Amino acid sequence: MALIASPPSNPKQHQFSPLHRATRLPGQAELVLSRAMSNTSMVLNSGHYISMSNKLLLNTKFSTHLRKNANRTDPHITSAALVEAAEPKPKPEAAKFRRILLSDVVVNHQRRVFFGRNLSHRSFKVPKWLEYFFAYCGVQALQGSPIDWVSTHRYHHQFVDSERDPHSPTAGFWFSHMSWIFDTTSLNERCGGPNNVGDLQKQPFYRFLEKTYIIHPIALGALLYGLGGFPFLVWGMGVRVVWVYHITWLVNSACHVWGKQPWKTGDLSRNNWLVALLSFGEGWHNNHHAFEYSARHGLEWWELDLTWYVVKFLQAIGFATDVKVPTEVQKQRMAI
Ligand SMILES: [Zn+2]
Ligand SMILES: [Zn+2]
Repeated sequence: MALIASPPSNPKQHQFSPLHRATRLPGQAELVLSRAMSNTSMVLNSGHYISMSNKLLLNTKFSTHLRKNANRTDPHITSAALVEAAEPKPKPEAAKFRRILLSDVVVNHQRRVFFGRNLSHRSFKVPKWLEYFFAYCGVQALQGSPIDWVSTHRYHHQFVDSERDPHSPTAGFWFSHMSWIFDTTSLNERCGGPNNVGDLQKQPFYRFLEKTYIIHPIALGALLYGLGGFPFLVWGMGVRVVWVYHITWLVNSACHVWGKQPWKTGDLSRNNWLVALLSFGEGWHNNHHAFEYSARHGLEWWELDLTWYVVKFLQAIGFATDVKVPTEVQKQRMAI
């Protein structure tokens, strides 16, 4: 799965290998979802860890809820499960345990702006020194190196809501919210190693952050402890990280379950205003899946998107260039 590093020029052209991109098969929603869940269960049960809550969730009302939603939104449900069933699974790599567990959540604003919109999707450009500075700030969010984070996020888009999605709620709400993080074997079974981030891997700075990742938040913790003792450590690392973990995990879970779907994305992604408020704009998630390349997620004036305002500010002072937003024609193409 070689990465096509150049940014997409239109919403239909995926940034990564199109091999696994979901296609739509009207009327297949129930079948595909069932197979996806079945396959997921097989993957998770074949010698690998699966939490009891996940097993239960696969058979509960929540699954029924998703099935209903899938039928309601049919024909947009993906059929990636069918496509990938015939493909060889990627071998778990020796480096799999190096992958940081907390790799696909957005903890703080720097991370949100730069890991998501800048690094993952190249929605805009900034000077290299600024990109690296904010990438370093993102590392302090304790959610993995940029290489691992971006890799998982790109896989999410590539395999969205299929059995190879790293964190789809089709495998259970709590799986998509947080338990997938503790299951690195499943993550590697689903996606393989970080083979879709060649653009980052060729940069020594990101390779350095990957190798030394855990040292940096530990150093920050030590600094906070030195400055203010235990209270600084608790508030500056513990409370901050856990609070924002859960807000941003909601993007992976709630934003694929509850909310509106104004666009034909072919997946379960939703616009959820509450998550958008809490996460500074990431909750306009159906918008994001519809226009992955867009630096702006809140596309209507009333869709509050603080991250977009940061990008606009950077653009105004000349730091952000090549800022991408969908055109009216592109919107019409994706409109339901
Ligand atoms: Zn994204
Ligand atoms: Zn998503």
